[in-house]
Amino acid sequence: RPLIDLDAARTHELDRAHVFHSWSAQDLIDPMVVTRAEGSWLWDGEGTKLLDFTSQLVFTNLGHQHPRVVAAIQEQAATLCTVAPSYANAARSEAARLIASHTPEGLDRIFFTNGGADANEHAIRMARLHTGRQKVLSTYRSYHGGTQLAVNVTGDPRRWSNDAASTGTVHFFGPFLYRSEFHATTEAEEGARALEHLEHLVAMEGPQTIAAIMLETIPGTAGIMLPPAGYLQGVRDLCDRHGIVYIADEVMCGFGRTGRWFAVEDHGVVPDLLTFAKGVNSGYVPLGGVAISAEIAATFGQRPYPGGLTYSGHPLACAAAVATIRAMEDEQVVEHAAHLGRDVIGPALRELAARHPWVGEVRGTGVFWAIELVADAATREPLAPYGGSSPAMGAILAACREEGLLPFANYHRIHVVPPLTISDEDVLAGIAMIDRALTRAHAAH
Ligand code: PLP
Repeated sequence: RPLIDLDAARTHELDRAHVFHSWSAQDLIDPMVVTRAEGSWLWDGEGTKLLDFTSQLVFTNLGHQHPRVVAAIQEQAATLCTVAPSYANAARSEAARLIASHTPEGLDRIFFTNGGADANEHAIRMARLHTGRQKVLSTYRSYHGGTQLAVNVTGDPRRWSNDAASTGTVHFFGPFLYRSEFHATTEAEEGARALEHLEHLVAMEGPQTIAAIMLETIPGTAGIMLPPAGYLQGVRDLCDRHGIVYIADEVMCGFGRTGRWFAVEDHGVVPDLLTFAKGVNSGYVPLGGVAISAEIAATFGQRPYPGGLTYSGHPLACAAAVATIRAMEDEQVVEHAAHLGRDVIGPALRELAARHPWVGEVRGTGVFWAIELVADAATREPLAPYGGSSPAMGAILAACREEGLLPFANYHRIHVVPPLTISDEDVLAGIAMIDRALTRAHAAH
């Protein structure tokens, strides 16, 4: 008999009785039971096979149950399940070396956390101690995590009910041409005006009060908006001029998702701190971290860094990271992700956009794409309100499930974010399912 021997019905019953779910009204949810998963596919409690176009919360970059990662966790468990962070450990040392071999030049020191929010919390703490300043600037339309400071740095509706007066966070608008705040008509104009807006904001807030600017290199959950050429370089210059720490949050867009190891590579910038989680080990065991510049690491050379976690650099999580990164290297996963975006997903989504009245825009890179759905192509009125849902969106998502697809949705958008290892055929099959779901929902509307 297996250790845990529950059928789907009992699993659901115990969940409803005892599990308290994230971001949810507990009485209004009906969680799908997942019994099994493999590669880009998973099976629900009724045995229905679904194509996972979500990578769960955009973290199973290698797909489900990659044999090398599973074996690494088993091997590490048999050797040494855990050890406190104060000791040195082979899995942790090798994971840190491998991560540093891919992060932008100079970001060679790795502080391990349990996930993305605490990586961002620690990056901000490092920036504050390094600069002796308090304020943190970040964009509307961003997500940085669910802990108290990270959710206040966040610019999405999940912040509203967590607003706190004393977090020292200030928000600004990043570039997003389709919904430009700057009346821009070209990417170049959008980038230049967004930068000007940020420069004014920094001047008004007082540059000497600002510890850090934290930016998702490509905002993920908030809509996969690619920054115009030159924008991030402008942010880097602004930070340099005022001694502000530039923190790149690559929790979602890092580790190959964009067809690059890290999204900043496309923009020729090196941040002072880069946070990661999710794809670092495909989320098989919780792991996140901060890659730290030599200058900031030196701040804590002779003076202790006042922060830590019981499970910092957990051996099981680090062994999973070692296996994940080696598999990504050996199987050319990042190159495949770039190919999928350039040759398969991009062309297929653009073709779909040309046919469907509800598709306002498609945008993305690698295996990181958004379909922006609008009620009216001329006014660009979103198909669901900011922070909400609508019958039309509900109908599309239900139709996706009926087609055999697990979709990733955020308000009025569907994101195409399957594992980086998905085949050309499967990704096209998934886009065809979205295509049919849109047609059916539109006809019924
Ligand atoms: N930063 C970004 C860009 C994210 O997408 C997320 C999670 O979705 C986080 C931070 C928070 O990570 P975690 O949920 O592991 O705390």
